[in-house]
Amino acid sequence: MSVETFDVVVAGGGPAGSTVASLVAIQGHRVLLLEKEVFPRYQIGESLLPSTVHGVCRMLGVTEELAAANFPVKRGGTFRWGARPEPWTFSFAVSPRMSGRTSFAYQVERARFDEILLNNAKRKGVTVREGCSVTEVVEERDRVTGLRYTDSDGGEREVSARFVIDASGNKSRLFSSVGGTRDYSEFFRSLALFGYFENGKRLPEPYSGNILSVAFDSGWFWYIPLSDTLTSVGAVVRREMAEKVQGDREAAYKALIAECPLISEYLSDAHRVTTGNYGELRVRKDYSYLQTTFWRPGMILVGDAACFVDPVFSSGVHLATYSALLAARSINSILAGDLDEKTALNEFEARYRREYGVFYEFLVSFYEMNVNEESYFWHAKKVTNNKHTELESFVDLVGGVSSGEAALEARIAKHSAEFAAAVDDMAAGGDGDMVPMFTSHVVRQVMQEGGQVQMRAVLGEDAAPEEPVFPGGLVASPDGMKWMPYRG
Ligand SMILES: Cc1cc2nc3c(=O)[nH]c(=O)nc-3n(C[C@H](O)[C@H](O)[C@H](O)COP(=O)(O)OP(=O)(O)OC[C@H]3O[C@@H](n4cnc5c(N)ncnc54)[C@H](O)[C@@H]3O)c2cc1C
Repeated sequence: MSVETFDVVVAGGGPAGSTVASLVAIQGHRVLLLEKEVFPRYQIGESLLPSTVHGVCRMLGVTEELAAANFPVKRGGTFRWGARPEPWTFSFAVSPRMSGRTSFAYQVERARFDEILLNNAKRKGVTVREGCSVTEVVEERDRVTGLRYTDSDGGEREVSARFVIDASGNKSRLFSSVGGTRDYSEFFRSLALFGYFENGKRLPEPYSGNILSVAFDSGWFWYIPLSDTLTSVGAVVRREMAEKVQGDREAAYKALIAECPLISEYLSDAHRVTTGNYGELRVRKDYSYLQTTFWRPGMILVGDAACFVDPVFSSGVHLATYSALLAARSINSILAGDLDEKTALNEFEARYRREYGVFYEFLVSFYEMNVNEESYFWHAKKVTNNKHTELESFVDLVGGVSSGEAALEARIAKHSAEFAAAVDDMAAGGDGDMVPMFTSHVVRQVMQEGGQVQMRAVLGEDAAPEEPVFPGGLVASPDGMKWMPYRG
């Protein structure tokens, strides 16, 4: 078998894979991306955050293409969540007066969005091969040196590279070659059952493109407008319902919708799509997990291959593209001879872990707002009902978040109460004023790094120099493509 050689080979062409491949190819390196499916292919994860659209996608050069795709504009999230009986809205703009041109995201059909990113990777010089399934990594002594894959004709092929990137998502087993273990969070073990409707109602303007998230006794629903008429509707329920949900999906889905008055009302004039790509009722375990190590010499995990956290705040594609940006900076710095592998990849891992941890803690605080002793789902999601050791040790794994702070349980209870109070203040203030929300600790944390990425992408060399995230850590270069030492 002849072995081809590239600088970098990427397994998986989802948002994480096409982002890292493009950002490395832009720097002139030879990149091969292997994707199992032939695009466009279905994927869940349709609600984006602004940092993906205005940060990473701007660096990739697809901002105009996204704007032309006519995806619904998402100005924020509308929630029936917590103690307030009526829905409240979290908007990406701090206030109506300060709604800048980057304070929105899109709701996307992933088949279209992922194809835009993959086609862009081709234009940026990445060699993309679809219908190619990676089977294993090639190792030499303690280093990963390449990949083996089955090509679209069924032939066995091998490729060697300085770096192998696993961007193959949560179903592939490739990640295990990096070493360590994939640890699951007990707290977030749930199950999602989802389908698509035509002619569902829309929230009143200007929020018709918002995601609507509704807590109810058995869990919570997402309601995501994907066009003027198409809506993605999913229920997240406890894992013990697996048998029921898997058994007769149709009946289980109907029963869950009937249990939730707000979603029932929004769907009262709608009909479920039963043909084509959106015709299937799908079930996904949305268990949250975190790999104990994100890299080893020659191999790096990005996106869902490394970690995943509960979908309620739509963080999946952000974490995928953000981790891809971090990995690209590290690889570009190493290939340019600016940094050694350990320094560059430790910076990648520490930052990715931290960002994951920030979302993890925010989401635990967010769940804590729904205290309902009568409900199995919400009772189990109450922090004080959980084994503290499990939560503590999971948050410890996240790294950098919990150290040196008050005990986790107390901290989360405090942050959750503060967040709930911010929701109330905001509602009382009227006029869509988001300021109370943005001053709450957990919201500040989750918006911080995404805001930084956005700012750098929009302002480029004019962006204010950033501080290292860790003492002695690195900072992004002015073009955002590499790391450099901090000269503060
Ligand atoms: C129920 C649920 C709801 C969600 N909702 C949201 C949401 O609203 N917003 C959001 O941002 N995120 C959401 N997510 C998360 C989102 O789906 C993921 O985080 C995101 O798709 C991760 O991107 P990725 O590129 O890492 O992986 P993927 O998008 O999974 O891409 C991986 C790619 O690798 C390919 N592949 C797999 N194995 C191989 C192989 N052996 N060889 C070659 N290629 C391979 C796959 O075909 C795929 O194209 C949700 C997740 C779940 C479970």
